Amino acid sequence: MNRPNYALVEVKDDAQEDNIKLHELKKRAALLRWRILQTSHKASVPHLGSCLSCIDILTALYFSELRIDPANPCSPDRDRFILSKGHGAPALFQVLAMRGFYSESMLDNYGEDGTIFAEHPPAPGILPGIEAATGSLGHGLPIGLGMALAARMNKQDYRVYALLGDGECNEGTIWEAALLAGAQKLNNVCVVIDFNKWQATDRSREVMALDPLVDKWRAFGWNAHEVDGHNMEDLLGALKKFPAESKPTAIIAHTVKGSGISFMEDDNNWHYRIPSVEDLAKAKLELKLEVESV
Ligand SMILES: [Mg+2]
Repeated sequence: MNRPNYALVEVKDDAQEDNIKLHELKKRAALLRWRILQTSHKASVPHLGSCLSCIDILTALYFSELRIDPANPCSPDRDRFILSKGHGAPALFQVLAMRGFYSESMLDNYGEDGTIFAEHPPAPGILPGIEAATGSLGHGLPIGLGMALAARMNKQDYRVYALLGDGECNEGTIWEAALLAGAQKLNNVCVVIDFNKWQATDRSREVMALDPLVDKWRAFGWNAHEVDGHNMEDLLGALKKFPAESKPTAIIAHTVKGSGISFMEDDNNWHYRIPSVEDLAKAKLELKLEVESV
């Protein structure tokens, strides 16, 4: 079935055009990293490491893949995206602003009394582009399955995407949902797992036996791929394999917590730490280099 393309960055079957597209996506991801850092510093918002590990995934989805129209955020035909790892909200808020769902200046009062921008996504209807209030882990995918089943029953062709954390895969509800999606052959569901190898207090694969994660999803009846979650070509390639003919899709995205800022990478202290003025200055230098090199 033909799907209208609302992507800001269009897909072209041309090597030069593809390079331009990749360049733009990488540039957007670098700018988003900077805005997330600034907000964390200004508003003392935590979960910086978690936001930086998933920002390339969000950029690929929102600027290339999702069928969305910021001018009509409640369109019945829109693709649904659920940030199941709700503590990544500071990243999602910046992406939605850059994508045009609301003005970037609205984020100026992030974290202040009375603002709608808090540590986790608010309930639907409060902020354009938010499909589910998440943060209590393990619920985003089950909510998404309800949306996917509704699409099938109502003969609608929208797709449902859910971004999960690796630590979130400790939750039983994730695997109940995985069983149901496999049993129902919900090929309109795509899960992306931000596999940054950490959860709040320890290594995720040591807290629970996550490995072999890709085999687990396959065993539950899913079409599963592993990708480098910071490689835009890899991500777009995996997203293009969705939907599979008769299965839901799981993309295991190998990521680095704090990705893009050398002194934050794979350091779990940045789950809660707030960057100082000095940290911000160092990070800005690194991101400037990244922006110039992409
Ligand atoms: Mg994690």
